[in-house]
Amino acid sequence: NDTVFTFGGDAPHTNARQKDKTVTGGKGANLAEMASIGLPVPPGFTIATEECLKYLEHGGEFAPALRKEIEQALTHVERTVGKGFGDAADPLLVSVRSGAAISMPGMMDTVLNLGLNDATVEGLAQASGDERFAWDSYRRFIQMYSDVVLGIDHGLFEEALEITKEDNGFYADTELSADDWKTLVAEYKQIVSDEHDAPFPQDPTEQLWGAIRAVFDSWDSERAKVYRRLNNIPHDMGTAVNVQAMVFGNMGDTSATGVAFTRDPSTGEKAYYGEWLVNAQGEDVVAGIRTPQYLTRAARENAGAKPLSMEEAMPEAYAELAHLFDLLERHYTDMQDIEFTVQQGKLWLLQTRNGKRTAKAALKLAVDMVGEGLIDEKTAILRVDPMALDQLLHPTLDPDAPRDVLTTGLPASPGAASGKIVLDADTAELWSNRGEKVILVRVETSPEDIHGMHAATGILTARGGMTSHAAVVARGMGRPCVSGASQVSIAREGRTLTIGDRELKEGDTITIDGANGQVMAGEVATIEPELDGDFGVLMEWADKHRRMRVRTNAETENDCRMARQFGAEGIGLCRTEHMFFDASRISLVRQMILADDEQGRRAALDQLLPEQRSDFVKIFEVMVGLPCTIRLLDPPLHEFLPHGDAEFEELANATGFSVDQLRRRAGELHEFNPMLGHRGCRLGITYPEIYEVQARAIFEAACQVAKASGEAPVPEVMIPLVATRRELELIKEVVDRAAQSVFEEAGCSVEYLVGTMIELPRAALMAGEIAEVGEFFSFGTNDLTQTTLGVSRDDAARFLTTYVDKGIFARDPFVSLDVDGVGQLVSLAAERGRATRPDIKLGICGEHGGDPASIAFCEKTGLDYVSASPYRVPIARLAAAQASL
Ligand code: ADP
Ligand code: MG
Ligand code: MG
Repeated sequence: NDTVFTFGGDAPHTNARQKDKTVTGGKGANLAEMASIGLPVPPGFTIATEECLKYLEHGGEFAPALRKEIEQALTHVERTVGKGFGDAADPLLVSVRSGAAISMPGMMDTVLNLGLNDATVEGLAQASGDERFAWDSYRRFIQMYSDVVLGIDHGLFEEALEITKEDNGFYADTELSADDWKTLVAEYKQIVSDEHDAPFPQDPTEQLWGAIRAVFDSWDSERAKVYRRLNNIPHDMGTAVNVQAMVFGNMGDTSATGVAFTRDPSTGEKAYYGEWLVNAQGEDVVAGIRTPQYLTRAARENAGAKPLSMEEAMPEAYAELAHLFDLLERHYTDMQDIEFTVQQGKLWLLQTRNGKRTAKAALKLAVDMVGEGLIDEKTAILRVDPMALDQLLHPTLDPDAPRDVLTTGLPASPGAASGKIVLDADTAELWSNRGEKVILVRVETSPEDIHGMHAATGILTARGGMTSHAAVVARGMGRPCVSGASQVSIAREGRTLTIGDRELKEGDTITIDGANGQVMAGEVATIEPELDGDFGVLMEWADKHRRMRVRTNAETENDCRMARQFGAEGIGLCRTEHMFFDASRISLVRQMILADDEQGRRAALDQLLPEQRSDFVKIFEVMVGLPCTIRLLDPPLHEFLPHGDAEFEELANATGFSVDQLRRRAGELHEFNPMLGHRGCRLGITYPEIYEVQARAIFEAACQVAKASGEAPVPEVMIPLVATRRELELIKEVVDRAAQSVFEEAGCSVEYLVGTMIELPRAALMAGEIAEVGEFFSFGTNDLTQTTLGVSRDDAARFLTTYVDKGIFARDPFVSLDVDGVGQLVSLAAERGRATRPDIKLGICGEHGGDPASIAFCEKTGLDYVSASPYRVPIARLAAAQASL
């Protein structure tokens, strides 16, 4: 196998390996590609990634055959340029550049002007007729090589340069003369001898091998390893090395260097975008030593800047560059990020790659490029990262507005919000009812805070990670949330809080940014998302190409409406208990729970019935004609219990029981492990009247909406936490009976289904039997993950990060479905369910329904739909389309 590939000049470009990024790295593959289509690329060669691996494996020894290959490749470059490497009269200079398959900060920096020494610098001066240029190049080389290859602190060189500039009263590097650079080169060499205990290497061949060695070694540097670990890049890929003839942007006013995007990477606008510098080399543009100038005249005029744009200063080179931008975009059919140099009026390309872009730009590029006939719809769908859409769906902070940052927590739920600080859920509801925007600030949240979280425009917690209660619920509701802001300390008595050393009180205005976790004092201006335009077009394409349906997890009229705007095609999970936490109902719910007998429970339930019915009416009205999965009561009852004396007293007044009696009953409800306790269908089995009344509310509401609108919703009554066929059978009888009697009373009937959540391993295993009764399955993958892994989600924060760091889990299994483990149970249940009931409806309603990787798994398993929280619906639509392409 070849491991050294030449490019440029008359190099053959027929080798497929050379264009394979895993062999020659991203930079090398694209240099070869550009050269092969006749673009002006300085000639050079690429040493394959596998040579890097061999070198490291052999403890830093080059493979013997490599010397010969490199000599030959170097001859190709010499011949093409017409100069000799190390030739004292007219030297060939090269750059040595690293380049892995995946671009990676942490790899070796580029060395430019390699091949210069005390003799060749004179030759370069002679041949170019420009002494200043030659010595400028030499000082650059010594500094870069010493820094990158010899490991000498570059600050020492910069200091020496600063002193020279100060002594001479110079401001810019360009003011130094040939003699100034000569003096500096002598000083630089002295620095090297002092620091390195050996003179600066004069032999060009030694320089070249030193640089190649440094590139290979950098693959194993700590920096690079850490980066790979964080980004899931395998350690066994190695880096390629590119050795390329130098072209010079530092040969006076007809020379320049620059970087450019073929379109604006932040907006996607079709306008060349970039920066350049006259009489400069390589990194000068990004190093910030001189202020780079605008590429186009329009951009310069827009900014009101003085120094001429490249379009104005070098019209010919610019025209050629613009032509090459278009050509490269057409060739790669994507926006390109390009590095170029102009040497005495002649344009050279040094790099191209697909440019990084914001979510907004990604959308615009995808849609525009279809319009231009550059790509087709399917490619456009695949170009946009579904998760990036999240940035676009929420209001965001105006990037130009000033920010007074108090502290930074975890970015738990995206979007930004400003509002008055409130310290408990009831106050949040109260203030929001009077029309105030509030931010709920808690140490952490629990299920009884739901109404306050709903009322708030944003949520801030001092404790808890990215999968804490606050984070999960906030994401579900589409509320921005910053969690785990440990500097926040709340003094409940005084209704005050401190953040770091700043004192605040309830009612003060703060702003939170769920995109980066910042908490700011005062109100920071926001900008609203745009949902039509490119977003709408891409979504339409996604809908056309996806097989699975997308539903939403929602239980309020508002969330339902929002989800429909986002394209939801029904409800996959309506959690009825969320409605019970409402301030006006919680007392009735408590009466029901604390009742001693069925009669007591029924009395409370009878009062709850009209309330539940009106909830369902509102939901069905929004979802008319669409399937709505409604889950009957699921959580352990004690979650609804009163806390503290005041609440018990209030309840005592309402019920006529004494506080003592109520406390005793509450004590009886205590459970050691409520997650696996008296919850889910176990409630329906022991207290059938609860499910009966809920079913009644559902069917009465459905009939009411069917009569009023002429179009019936399709309720799917879902029984939670079923483990056995018999449980489902008993409860289905209750539901069917309720349906029959409602239909008779109402003189109207609607289609409905009764099915179950699959959220226990036993249910998955026994799915064949359960499907004899259940007409649909919805995979409740949150609980299924907890029960399969034996991990409690609410307690996992303490060890999950360590687990992910140590590679035990590739990702948080509550964020992205554990396809290998939990996924098996899902596939198996789907298979067994279908064997019994071929037309069984299958869906997923866990948090995973909004995660692209999990959605891809659902597509593969052949589920009928995924269900996601309203803000995740567009993400799910796009991810479902990508999964089916
Ligand atoms: P990075 O991966 O950090 O961008 P590069 O290898 O692309 O590093 O090199 C950085 C810059 O060095 C390039 O953008 C270019 O300006 C300059 N450069 C590299 N090779 C050459 C060369 N052969 N001739 C002129 N400039 C070069
Ligand atoms: Mg580069
Ligand atoms: Mg569950």
